[in-house]
Amino acid sequence: MTLRPDVVVAGAGVMGIFTALTLQERGARVLLADPWEPGHPRGTSSSETRVIRVLYGSDRLYSEWTVASLAAWQRWERALPRPVFLKTGVLWLTRHDDGYAARGEAVLRELGVPVERLTNADVERRYPAVGTSDLKFALFEPESGALLSREAVRRLAELFVSRGGTLRRGEVGLGQSTGRTLGAVSVGGERIDTGAAVFACGPWLPELFPALLGSVIRVRRAEEYFFGVAPGDQRFDSSHLPTWVDIGAHYGVPAVDGRSFKVGVDQPGPEFHPTTGERRIDPANLPVVREFLSRRFPALADAPLVDSRVCQYELTADEHLVLDRHPDLDNVVLAGGGSGHAFKLGPAIGTFVADLVTGVRADTEDRFRAAARAARPWREA
Ligand SMILES: Cc1cc2nc3c(=O)[nH]c(=O)nc-3n(C[C@H](O)[C@H](O)[C@H](O)COP(=O)(O)OP(=O)(O)OC[C@H]3O[C@@H](n4cnc5c(N)ncnc54)[C@H](O)[C@@H]3O)c2cc1C
Repeated sequence: MTLRPDVVVAGAGVMGIFTALTLQERGARVLLADPWEPGHPRGTSSSETRVIRVLYGSDRLYSEWTVASLAAWQRWERALPRPVFLKTGVLWLTRHDDGYAARGEAVLRELGVPVERLTNADVERRYPAVGTSDLKFALFEPESGALLSREAVRRLAELFVSRGGTLRRGEVGLGQSTGRTLGAVSVGGERIDTGAAVFACGPWLPELFPALLGSVIRVRRAEEYFFGVAPGDQRFDSSHLPTWVDIGAHYGVPAVDGRSFKVGVDQPGPEFHPTTGERRIDPANLPVVREFLSRRFPALADAPLVDSRVCQYELTADEHLVLDRHPDLDNVVLAGGGSGHAFKLGPAIGTFVADLVTGVRADTEDRFRAAARAARPWREA
């Protein structure tokens, strides 16, 4: 039987999977294709955990998308074999009163999202493992937490297949087009006729569309560290410590799901190739992380590194996503530019992209445009 999907979705990361599931729910025949299996270690969605928090400074749109996504994650996970959202709460630690946290707090209150303002004394009382000497204040989002990201991607892909979707292994490329309409793609070298295509290829997008996205998305190395706590010490479990963000510096997830205490550095490293890059951490970065630990979590100052991961950011200069139609092909949509914050937004992104594909939405938002940003020179955010 000839496979003739309504939509081919390239990329089984969080953006592609939610796009595929949303289109499938709307009745479309969807083919989802990826060169590797969902959850493979090179994908940006494939870390063990990702933070889901609503606060975004004064940026109301992303806060609203997170509120919608948080509800959607909890709806989707009911169809999965196990929950993927861990309601640990998210603690924001503020060292500089530059207004980011306060503006975000105001947005949360406007949106009716529970948020508490904590003094340093409150933080010490609730979370004795946290060092507060350099903090101004803290905010706590009790309804937020962490997502088991790799697990989620794998299980959502299985759900897509169990509902009749087709999952193929292979690189997708643009195929034949007539005027402004794409008629076919290649999947692992095989021609597949399709009504539309979505390219949700994360850090591979700039290479796939060099003229359009080569200057819009840059791929940069990122390291995540896992530290081992002392035998019997439960202060770093999710029952005692929330997911946390030390604004502008580090973020982390307590020891959840059999994993150890995670620390991420909120600083993009050098350029990185997602296919060929070797994924070993740079030992030169460890002392910096340890210095942070000795200040923020003093009991972990000398904790051994028990695990680590090298991932990559697919960064745009303004850190806004790329969610747009291809400028030359009306039935091709590009989704990417996650810029270190898009995992949580997966369900909202899937809805937005599905709306673009089906014409429910005539055009994208300015902030998500591809071609308009290609014309602008890159600047570090
Ligand atoms: C260190 C780090 C920490 C982060 N922390 C957070 C966080 O706490 N909270 C949060 O919300 N977000 C976070 N993010 C961001 C988030 O992980 C990403 O924005 C998101 O996972 C990107 O998903 P994606 O689907 O765009 O890309 P990916 O997950 O990379 O998926 C793209 C897929 O496309 C496939 N592909 C490539 N080429 C082709 C092709 N030709 N045809 C078909 N398929 C192809 C790839 O194999 C891959 O599976 C973080 C990112 C990093 C790097």
